[in-house]
Amino acid sequence: MKLRISLLLIVVFFVNLTVFGQQKYAIVIHGGAGVMSKSRMNDERQAEYKKVLNQALEVGEKLLKDGATATDVVVEVIQVMENSPLFNAGKGAVFTNEGKNELDASIMEGNNINAGAVAGVSNIKNPINAAREVMYKSEHVFLSGKGASEFAKQQGLEIVNNKYFFTKSRYESLKQLQKRERERTKKDNMGTVGCAVLDTHGNLSAGTSTGGMTNKKFGRIGDAPVIGAGTYANNNTCAVSCTGHGEYYIRLGFARDISALMEYKNLSVSEACKEEINKLSELDGTGGVIAVDANGDIAMEFNTGGMFRGFIKSNGEKEIAIFKEN
Ligand code: ASP
Repeated sequence: MKLRISLLLIVVFFVNLTVFGQQKYAIVIHGGAGVMSKSRMNDERQAEYKKVLNQALEVGEKLLKDGATATDVVVEVIQVMENSPLFNAGKGAVFTNEGKNELDASIMEGNNINAGAVAGVSNIKNPINAAREVMYKSEHVFLSGKGASEFAKQQGLEIVNNKYFFTKSRYESLKQLQKRERERTKKDNMGTVGCAVLDTHGNLSAGTSTGGMTNKKFGRIGDAPVIGAGTYANNNTCAVSCTGHGEYYIRLGFARDISALMEYKNLSVSEACKEEINKLSELDGTGGVIAVDANGDIAMEFNTGGMFRGFIKSNGEKEIAIFKEN
């Protein structure tokens, strides 16, 4: 009798877990933060961005419903944005001072604190894919330049000519910036992409992909491929992806600090992101962050005029937005 009751309790426990607990999922994405206002972006342009953001969320949701892992969802969602010329990642990446495209990407999964990243790559079509390969197929976490490309080639990833990344608008941004002889502007870099996911197995993962900052020099690497700065994930706290002026994010250890605020100060994911954005503002840094916690609660915070962003949750909640006030 006792055995039967125990077995029944176990069955009830697992049914509950499947129906009410572990089936929960959430995806949150960004497509860059920066100087933007409704008056400077016409309705057509806004609709173009929202279309790709929506497409990315839909691709991710379908995969999650089919039981895909958070990491695979992060990669597929980011690839949608990397393949769009609208964003500063993959096709559409900003130009270096020398008129080339050098890309950075990273990914981290929260169940085993594993991570992969590539920096300064110039011929890998989808750098986020390479970051996942580094995480799963190499004994390292962070590969750069030629070595990273060689590794990607060995893994069978798609290699392209650097010209593939060319877009007229990004090239003109470089030329204007060089003409003005300013170091960098916030507007020109806008469009880094990122994704944070809670999957139906209860795991968290986050990834970020970027072309960096327009007119960057001397092999400059930003926060996007730096684990703990632009990307972080830990099942005990949250998954985070950042966008903004990378130097500040590296100095703050931004993404990891959000996780630490949750772990050590017991802050909610939204409180932790707000607090970290305040630290960024105090340093006069600009940018934004997206995050999701193990409960599926999400945060989308920024101190700029806008951030291309969106989320979708298993409870049906969905939002796609650009500006501070929508
Ligand atoms: N964080 C990126 C970098 O500094 C740029 C951006 O997100 O706009 O490379």
